[in-house]
Amino acid sequence: MRLYLASNNEHKREEFSLLFPDYEIVLPKDEGLSFDPVEDGSTFIENALIKAEALYDLIGMPCIADDSGLCVKAFGGKPGIHTARYGEEGGNKLSDREKYTLLLKNMEGIKERDAEFVCTMVLIVDKHNKYVVEKSVKGHITEKAEGLNGFGYDPVFYNDEALNVSALLSSEEKNTFSHRAKAAAAIKEILEKEKDAIWREMNRR
Ligand code: IMP
Repeated sequence: MRLYLASNNEHKREEFSLLFPDYEIVLPKDEGLSFDPVEDGSTFIENALIKAEALYDLIGMPCIADDSGLCVKAFGGKPGIHTARYGEEGGNKLSDREKYTLLLKNMEGIKERDAEFVCTMVLIVDKHNKYVVEKSVKGHITEKAEGLNGFGYDPVFYNDEALNVSALLSSEEKNTFSHRAKAAAAIKEILEKEKDAIWREMNRR
């Protein structure tokens, strides 16, 4: 069964294909659609809904969207929804490595290092049926980067549930203990319940 994903990102497609192995993940660009909604919400939920609703308006088929980020307690929950653009406020582009190095620098001398990764996923089955789930995983920002696995801030995030730095986890461990894996597990339960409705919607045109 096909599931439209509100993203243009191939990395996201791979991730979602692993998280939802029973579904063929389809991006708007696969259908020749240009998709670039303005993510101007002030929460993960608002931004995930903006993406999912923009895609649903375009295709009118069941679709899924996510929004995630890192919330650092000492920074009042920031960078939060701005995690992907951390340090890029002046318009400059930074690599993942430059971003987590900047985070470590900004946390120098700070003892309170608690942080959490949050992931919101939205599933739209049809215009009357929208589901939102939000899951998180707690941990802390390490003093130095470690590990080569994963992406983003994984080398500087110690996952309290996996009891290890995220970049030292195998992909199986990450797919058990990450914020995204937990949100996907909750969405999978909903997909199972809504299977018939999704099938009907997919075959409507
Ligand atoms: P997105 O909304 O999934 O694109 O995530 C926003 C940003 O949060 C990404 O660009 C990453 O920098 C960071 N991020 C989200 N999930 C993870 C993760 O599992 N590990 C490390 N960084 C992540």
